[in-house]
This record gives sequence, structure tokens and C-alpha cells, in this order.
Amino acid sequence: MNAHDHQNHSHGTAGGCSGHAPKTEDLASAQGDDVTECLVMAGTPVIKSQAEAAGLYRDYQGQRYWLCCDACGPLFDAEPERYANAA
Ligand SMILES: [Zn+2]
Repeated sequence: MNAHDHQNHSHGTAGGCSGHAPKTEDLASAQGDDVTECLVMAGTPVIKSQAEAAGLYRDYQGQRYWLCCDACGPLFDAEPERYANAA
């Protein structure tokens, strides 16, 4: 009997922030214009409309930057220039 054998309480993501990464099917249906890349977690695709709906974006120096997950907000806030300049 292993009634406690479920480990789905946490996201199960180790060290990454892929929890909010868009699904492949969402990416496929999103307009090219609506997809960008998270500047904090480079290489992570972000659907702008979804990020905005979730509050995962920052306006910095007149530019808007979209983030892939909650963890990236504080990281961007800590060093906005670094990420903005990487765009
Ligand atoms: Zn992220």
C-alpha cells in the first residue's frame, strides 16, 4: 500500500521556470507577432497576450518586456537594464 505515492504537490520543475511556458499547441496557434522570448530565461518562448493576462510583463523605458514566469519578475526588476539591453 503506497497511498502517499503521489508527488504532484509541487510543479516538479527542478531549478527552471518552465511551469508557465506555453504549450506547443498554443505557440502554434499564436500569431508570430504575439510570441516573443523571455529575456530573463533566454530561449523560453512567451505568448504576449498570455503573459499580460497573468501580469508577467514589465514596462521599462517605454518598452514592454514579457516574462515567462513569476520567477522572472523579480529578476528583471533587479537588473532591468541588463535584460533590456539584451533585447
Ligand atoms: Zn521565467
